[in-house]
Amino acid sequence: MLFDLHSHTSASDGHLTSDLLVKRAVACRVDVLAITDHDTIDGLALAKQTIENESLPLHLIYGIELSTKWENKDIHIVGLNIDPYCDDLTLLIQEQALRRDERAQLMSQRLEKANIIGAYCGAKALAANAPITRAHIARWMVENHYANDMQNVFKNYLTRGKTGYVPPNWCSIEHAVNVIHRAGGQAVLAHPASYQLTMKWIKRLLHCFVDAKGDAMEIAQPQQSPNERRQLADLAISFGLLGSQGSDFHYATSWLELGRNLYLPKGCLEIWHDWEIAKRG
Ligand code: AMP
Ligand code: MN
Ligand code: MN
Ligand code: MN
Repeated sequence: MLFDLHSHTSASDGHLTSDLLVKRAVACRVDVLAITDHDTIDGLALAKQTIENESLPLHLIYGIELSTKWENKDIHIVGLNIDPYCDDLTLLIQEQALRRDERAQLMSQRLEKANIIGAYCGAKALAANAPITRAHIARWMVENHYANDMQNVFKNYLTRGKTGYVPPNWCSIEHAVNVIHRAGGQAVLAHPASYQLTMKWIKRLLHCFVDAKGDAMEIAQPQQSPNERRQLADLAISFGLLGSQGSDFHYATSWLELGRNLYLPKGCLEIWHDWEIAKRG
């Protein structure tokens, strides 16, 4: 069975609506897909309905990717198998939406210093009803010829030390894990290798995550060296965490696709080992 447990729709900063995403997952031979939009569950209902209406051979996992603040850094925690309508989760989603909106306004004000005017309104229009992410701001800047591509926007404007950067204002890791648990889900530390931390700091982060009662960490991503995957697997084993895998799909590129190159190295306990769907498969 092919599991892809991290993906985005246009309910956050993905490019596909959730009906198109689930159809694409089937075309990519994914059996189990988690939709994990940034701080929102709004893509889930249409995905579920599409699978039912069209009898698609796909099992949908209700998920979310929560932004948290740790040591003044943005750290992402994925919740899997959540009840999307749990009251505590609804409250946190509302709080995060306000924080996202305030942050987007602040980023926009800062970008004005670089003579980039109207980023907030532009990004808000692109996001439609979705919470505004830096990806929306970056897309607006590319479309308005302030940069050639998103990578350049991030590099020159939206990362720490650059004009448009705003430090994280999110909830704590502990709070995110608690809310995911109250919603009946499992908490997964997302893409631990992508925070530009040294090994010493990754281990600190893992200690904090384990102390907060986190359940699992992502080990496998499509674009990754076998060496990195093995290293992450060894960390998961030594910290007693379950292993997860996901493409973090936002849109298809020549190097990234749903379900591609996802497997866990030997010795990891898969997060899905005790899920009903895994037993059935
Ligand atoms: P935010 O949650 O608002 O901080 O936005 C982060 C999102 O921006 C991530 O989930 C990615 O989708 C996107 N992103 C982050 N870094 C880059 C980058 N270097 N190039 C393109 N997109 C990026
Ligand atoms: Mn994103
Ligand atoms: Mn992320
Ligand atoms: Mn993601």
